[in-house]
Amino acid sequence: MLSGILIYMKHIRTRFAPSPTGFLHVGGVRTALFAWLLARQSNGQFILRIEDTDKAREVEGSAAHIIKCLSALGVDYDEGPNKTGEYGPYLQSERLEIYRTWAQKLIDSGRAYADPYTSEQLQAFRDEARANKRAFLYRNHRPENPPTWEAGMPLRFKSDPKAYAWHDEVMGDLSTGPEVVDDIILIKSDGYPTYNFAHIVDDAEMQITHVIRGQEFISSQPTYLNLYEALEVERPIFATMPHILAETGGKKLSKRDGAKDILDYIADGYTPEALINFIASLGWNDGTEQEVFTREELVAKFSLDRVQRSGARFDARRLLWMNGQHIRMLPLDELEQRVENFWPASAQDASEARKRQILSLVQDRLKTLTDLPILSSYFFEEPDPNWTMLQDNKQLKKLEQSESQQMLTAARETFTTIPDDNFQSDTIQNTLNSLLESTGQKPAVLFSLIRLSVSWAPFSPALPDTLAALGKDTVIARIDRSLGALSE
Ligand code: GLU
Repeated sequence: MLSGILIYMKHIRTRFAPSPTGFLHVGGVRTALFAWLLARQSNGQFILRIEDTDKAREVEGSAAHIIKCLSALGVDYDEGPNKTGEYGPYLQSERLEIYRTWAQKLIDSGRAYADPYTSEQLQAFRDEARANKRAFLYRNHRPENPPTWEAGMPLRFKSDPKAYAWHDEVMGDLSTGPEVVDDIILIKSDGYPTYNFAHIVDDAEMQITHVIRGQEFISSQPTYLNLYEALEVERPIFATMPHILAETGGKKLSKRDGAKDILDYIADGYTPEALINFIASLGWNDGTEQEVFTREELVAKFSLDRVQRSGARFDARRLLWMNGQHIRMLPLDELEQRVENFWPASAQDASEARKRQILSLVQDRLKTLTDLPILSSYFFEEPDPNWTMLQDNKQLKKLEQSESQQMLTAARETFTTIPDDNFQSDTIQNTLNSLLESTGQKPAVLFSLIRLSVSWAPFSPALPDTLAALGKDTVIARIDRSLGALSE
């Protein structure tokens, strides 16, 4: 039994088949990711196929953009554009001969016919159906003597309507009656195949075992099943993804809901690890409370039967939180490389060792890599006192000016007593503790004030660490400067 499963698992071949029509939306990335996870966990193959048969909707550069997005996420493909594979080409526009051959097979077996109608005639059929309150079906208008199919004419499938029952790995057992099976176009008048036809031919030719895709195709599934039979090819396993819902309300996520392009997320300091973790969690969990998964854990734990049927909500704050979690998990060496382009300009002349020291200090506080300047610039440049930060601070806004002066003066005095070579976190921590006793202040007040007076930054690492990294001279000079500003 086990070896049977292993043999079967070896042959898993999944694909991502985007149409190059522009923006790669989160739903598309999720489809690609799930197909990739399934292939990787079973030593199978993941194929990228560009479905560029709708020339009117094609956007230039889109295929290259999709490839860039996948590569930025580390979702690598085994076969596809720019990669040789046994089943290529992987651009549908380069496979027209293949579709024609399969179309001929259907013509020969009496399962396809040339569609002689003009669009006006088809519209008249539609209007007539509506007037009679009947559902419009192409197959009710099959021409008695169809012309010979030639260039410029659409080719239609001659369906064999019947009831279907099938299993969808996510949606479960589904069934429909014959009324939904219809004569769809296989080859359009421009000579390109429709998605409906081309994907079935390609999935069969490319030996795809699992078709993972969005819900927009599920209503056509019965006709596809009919087409598999007519083409005499085996059906693959189907998995239909749940919708991704906008953060508020029950509607589907759209571009307007703030979901950005993958490359924009990367430019905004999101890590590929967090992005794939977050996107995988849109509709999938492993059945435990675990939320943060490494790439390896996702590969090991993903399964289609744990993808939920109901819509999954896109929550940008959750993505931000996850990003912080993944940044923490990065080894410092790795993080150093990732933040190379995110340092504040003032860090330009700092030594690598100094940057590394500061990075290790702020690592846990980074929610995105773009937070680095705001979290680190005061280590490299003199911050200007900014009193609105005192007023905006819950703990500090009620302080009298004289109280602030007293506290900072006391802090300055105690810091000067620490020997230069001992200005380190634990010594500073002890000093701060004794300062709390002598001033009788609450830690939140005293520490926030000292923190602000040396950094003038909205957040910083733990105070003793921040002070130690700044160094005694800088700390004292900055407190002096803040005291000076306070007395003006
Ligand atoms: N080209 C289709 C799309 O981009 C692919 C659907 C499928 O995966 O079969 O929506």
